[in-house]
Amino acid sequence: MDRFDWASEIETQEREAAIARARENGSAEIPLVIAGVRCCRDCEEPIPAGRLRVRPDAVRCVSCQERHERRLQDAG
Ligand SMILES: [Zn+2]
Repeated sequence: MDRFDWASEIETQEREAAIARARENGSAEIPLVIAGVRCCRDCEEPIPAGRLRVRPDAVRCVSCQERHERRLQDAG
């Protein structure tokens, strides 16, 4: 029986880690699309194609993403 508890404990930890990872890289957030163009969620400027090639899941332009990550770090 302990084995089942252990397994569900691991499962919970993995799920939480996946959510935290998704939160960090922004993939959990829904991209903003204006007229078929992927735009930054914060400043609503189109995200450069080069950035989307490197980060297909990007929902922010580089400067807004950096600011966003700093906010996350400040929040602890
Ligand atoms: Zn932006």
